[in-house]
Amino acid sequence: MILTSKAEFTDGINRVLITEDEIQEKIREYGDIISREYEGKPLLLVSVLKGAFVFMADLCKSISIPCEVGFMACKSYFDSTDSSGNVQIVYDLSQDISNYHVLMVEDIVDTGQTLEAVTDILKVRNPLSLKVITLLDKPERRVVDIKPDYTLFTIPNFFVVGYGLDYGEYYRNLPFIAEYKG
Ligand code: 5GP
Repeated sequence: MILTSKAEFTDGINRVLITEDEIQEKIREYGDIISREYEGKPLLLVSVLKGAFVFMADLCKSISIPCEVGFMACKSYFDSTDSSGNVQIVYDLSQDISNYHVLMVEDIVDTGQTLEAVTDILKVRNPLSLKVITLLDKPERRVVDIKPDYTLFTIPNFFVVGYGLDYGEYYRNLPFIAEYKG
């Protein structure tokens, strides 16, 4: 799929689910919570590319205490016979996380398999603590027993795009969350 015009772009969207203002207001609220919780602690925000890059950028600006950011990229292989899945790291963090309180910054938790696999990889590296903040949660779809520590919005089982989330690599630059038409 190659899109080049604004009409093709807006055609793919059913309706806006969460507006830009709603997202920014929640991020300010959670920025304050995190700033209080991690005051006096070495904080590292960790995102798995690419979906969480927009949330990571806005969230880190809403945090008023010092923090570092780190990025990872993974390839996932999930199939019906292996619910825990298999995740291979293709780009890794530069920080030794044993010196940090790590907060994973997620775009969306759907089946939970990606988050479980990545947190398992990070736990082995002995961070001072490990928590998860997610912009969106679709609990209806969960197949593993994992719950983010902080959830900004819980949504029904819609396929959503925007604010970092893509369909075919497009729509990441929308400033809001929309339901994809399909
Ligand atoms: P999980 O392992 O939790 O099933 O999947 C997590 C990943 O699947 C997310 O990081 C995201 O890349 C993708 N994903 C899950 N649901 C959606 C959705 O509604 N929209 C988009 N664009 N990606 C999704």
